[in-house]
Amino acid sequence: MSPLRIVIELLFLYALYRLFIADRRRPTVRERPAQQRPPAYHDELVEDPVCHAYVPKRQAVVLQQGEVSHYFCSEHCREAFRAHQGEKA
Ligand SMILES: [Zn+2]
Repeated sequence: MSPLRIVIELLFLYALYRLFIADRRRPTVRERPAQQRPPAYHDELVEDPVCHAYVPKRQAVVLQQGEVSHYFCSEHCREAFRAHQGEKA
């Protein structure tokens, strides 16, 4: 048996070993979507369109315009948003 042949066989065995390890890991990868469940309601973050801060939805200051809700970090941002809309109109 030539040294080259031994190296090739070792590489082949290594490839088989890697395939075997990959097969055993696959179920773990499939479980991942279950861990990425939608966040709980209290974790839902909304972006303030004025200062672009992310605020928990329940703590946000809401401005309801028809069917659209805008969420703000503070009343200051809500008033700034209203004033900006007033300028455009
Ligand atoms: Zn803000």
